[in-house]
Amino acid sequence: MLVIPVYDTLILSNVQIHVQEEVFSAAEIENIKNEDTFLIVPIREQKERGSLCADDFYEIGILAQASSVTNADGNLLFQVETGERVRIQDVFVQEDRVDASYEIVVDENDLSPEEAESCLREFKQYAEALVKDVPGNAVIRSYIRRWKTMHEAATNIGGYLALDAEERFAILAENSLKKRYHLLLESIRQMLSIRSVNEEIKNKMTKEQQDAYKVAAIRKQMKYLEEELQELDDENLSEAELFAKKIEAAGMPEEARREADRVLHRFEMEGSSGHEYGTLYDYLDFVTTLSWKEEPEMPLDLAKARKVLDKEHYGLDKVKKRVLEQLAVTSLKGRQTGSILLFTGAPGTGKTSMGHSIAEAMGRKYVRISLGGIRDEAEIRGHRRTYVGAMAGRIMEGIRRAGVSNPVMVLDEIDKLASEIHGDPASALLEVLDPEQNVSFVDHYLNVPYDLSKVFFICTANSTESIPKPLMDRMEVISLSGYTPVEKYHIARKHLLPKAVKDAGLKKGQVAIQQKALKTIIDEYTMEAGVRGLKKQLDKICRYAAVQLLEQEQEKVVVTEQNLHDILGKKHLHHDEALKKTMPGVATGLAWTQAGGEILFIETLFTKGSGKIQITGQLGDVMKESAEIAFTLAKAVYANQKKDFDKTDIHIHVPEGATPKDGPSAGITLFTALSSLILEKPVKKQLAMTGELSLRGEVLPIGGLPEKLMAAQRAGVKTVLIPQKNVEDLEEIPEEIRKKLTIIPVGKIQEVARESLGVELP
Ligand code: ADP
Repeated sequence: MLVIPVYDTLILSNVQIHVQEEVFSAAEIENIKNEDTFLIVPIREQKERGSLCADDFYEIGILAQASSVTNADGNLLFQVETGERVRIQDVFVQEDRVDASYEIVVDENDLSPEEAESCLREFKQYAEALVKDVPGNAVIRSYIRRWKTMHEAATNIGGYLALDAEERFAILAENSLKKRYHLLLESIRQMLSIRSVNEEIKNKMTKEQQDAYKVAAIRKQMKYLEEELQELDDENLSEAELFAKKIEAAGMPEEARREADRVLHRFEMEGSSGHEYGTLYDYLDFVTTLSWKEEPEMPLDLAKARKVLDKEHYGLDKVKKRVLEQLAVTSLKGRQTGSILLFTGAPGTGKTSMGHSIAEAMGRKYVRISLGGIRDEAEIRGHRRTYVGAMAGRIMEGIRRAGVSNPVMVLDEIDKLASEIHGDPASALLEVLDPEQNVSFVDHYLNVPYDLSKVFFICTANSTESIPKPLMDRMEVISLSGYTPVEKYHIARKHLLPKAVKDAGLKKGQVAIQQKALKTIIDEYTMEAGVRGLKKQLDKICRYAAVQLLEQEQEKVVVTEQNLHDILGKKHLHHDEALKKTMPGVATGLAWTQAGGEILFIETLFTKGSGKIQITGQLGDVMKESAEIAFTLAKAVYANQKKDFDKTDIHIHVPEGATPKDGPSAGITLFTALSSLILEKPVKKQLAMTGELSLRGEVLPIGGLPEKLMAAQRAGVKTVLIPQKNVEDLEEIPEEIRKKLTIIPVGKIQEVARESLGVELP
């Protein structure tokens, strides 16, 4: 949900306040107008909106709605109503908005209505005393008298109290209403003793209390003054002096320090009107915000790490086991050694979110760097500063964003790196990942070595095919092959639905999806290896529920198989029909694609001609070769059929939709389609196959068996032919899938023909 950061404000739950336009940034105003519910979350220090990071936010915030926006004298006035307090879980900072996931926290209501009433009265007295000397206080007083709750009072008066961010937060974070009221009363009393107003009220306090308050108040006042002095000091410093101070404090190694000092010197010489001023400023800003300090080593709590991984991801046992091993070794060695983990799999199989969990398990900061479409080496290694508009590369930019020197860095979509004329980004990346070299990685922009050896790298990719070999050598592939329907069911129940409910601003229990309905969503509304589509459908249901709850004033929305269609609309297209209605010349294959597995139909037809093959559809060269092998073989096998192959052309077509990545594995499917055409006999129903074919009729092994079998099961296939030599891989296949399919290993085309067409070949 959208997050609006606040700094010097005390906002409590269930109050109405007016907020002026200036308080928000332009982007925030747009965001608020678009989404009427948002979170107000206090931040630890006053910062530019663009430079916030997840750690700047306190972990407790408040739900809010902008109930109306009025236009007063050309300025917008927002009426904001706050709701319950929330505990912030994950914060996602983007350029022009911040989002967070959260859970509601409930106040501990340990204050009787009478006590609350008397606290409010006391508070009003103090508040009136505070404004005693303010000119025109009659109006303010009548305003004060209208306060109905302590929260309302505190929110209105919060700005006048001498509270720092920690103290404001302590009030917000306090669960007990009683304790919260005491904190508030305390702070207002302190305020009063600073001003030493209203003898009458002061007399109510004992002498001891008064002294204690006074001392506390003076201390506080001193602290404020000191801070203010510090700020004034800084304000009086010139930019160059300020940078000098920051460089001093940054703890850079010698070489970096020298470079920074050199740039600082030029910066001083250049002056603010010089044309290099901006570039030099940016550089100094960059190096002084980078973390140069070594982070304290945090011993790894393996049990806790395991818990974190289990909490955030269902299943994936092998992956988790391997991750924990890696964490243990990293912890013992003090740095990442051995291979870097590369998570591969279809979209939505949890690769990136696993990276996030690993960061949490290690108690480290998390940064994600998307490598998709990077063509220019400089995007990894930075531009030289002589270049106009020079910037640091993404790796160093990530380090800066993390604010530490040892984050968990997820290099996303490493297979989408493009290598082109502008150098080779992959070789730059190799340097980043190589433990021999990354101790002193030189970003061209930074121009001095930076130690990346403490960074914990994780890479993700859809497929390993396009990853250059040297990079592959540095990595260990951990494949996430997709989820079975049962796994998806549990993921939806335990993770996706609760999150979708929260994101839609609903409460637990306001949406219920019946078991059968959820199964239907999985089987008939999504066709995927991962769970992205499923997540989208659940989000859709929760949005629908939100509207129902508000419009119909219902208490709860129950999703059944009956109303599913109304909520989600049309089902996804199914291959069922095609699988059930077979005809001569058509066979069903299994392909491995970037999106997991897919079934594909291969269609063949004879036309008059001279023995040529015509191939259409989205086929690569390898697949064309497979088609030729299959045709040659078919001609040899069926030589004694009446067909005169020299007088006919054969047309092979693979309808679009599935874009197979691995051509050869369609070999036996091509052969089967041709056999079926030649023999004029349809292939058995709901049968699919995968296997490479040799010219001598042997079935050769293929890759991606788990993905292919899962795709077959999703599509409604009942029987699958797989290469004999892949039988060992069956261990990798979830029991649930193996049970639902009849899997027949085949070693020769004779077996293929027997199982698929029921014919005996010589
Ligand atoms: P990828 O990076 O593989 O494309 P993501 O990590 O973005 O996938 O995952 C997509 C969504 O699915 C995320 O919200 C993630 O939390 C959720 N998800 C994926 N796998 C699991 C799992 N095993 N348990 C719980 N949630 C999961």
